[in-house]
Amino acid sequence: MRDGTPNDPAGAVASGLSPGLCGSCGHARVIRSGRGSLFSLCQLSAVDPSFPRYPTLPVLRCPGYEPVERGVSGSGPLPGLP
Ligand code: SF4
Repeated sequence: MRDGTPNDPAGAVASGLSPGLCGSCGHARVIRSGRGSLFSLCQLSAVDPSFPRYPTLPVLRCPGYEPVERGVSGSGPLPGLP
C-alpha cells in the first residue's frame, strides 16, 4: 500500500509478531495512532515511492534495508518501541 491506511502492521507489532528486517532498519519508525495502535512507517517511502509507507510485516527482503547497530542482531523490536 503506497499511501492511506496501514494494512495492519500495528496488529503485527502489538501481537509480538516479528517485524522482520524493519525491526533493525534505520529507516523504520514506529508511529502510534490516536487510538494507541502502533504502525511501522518506512521513512524511505518519503523519498522513494517504490517503498510502501506502511510495509506488510514481517519484511523478509528489502533493497533499502540498512541495519542499525543496537547490540542485537536479527529481528528485534522496532525502533521507537520500549
Ligand atoms: S527500507 Fe525496507 S527494511 Fe527498512 S524500514 Fe523500509 S521497508 Fe523496512
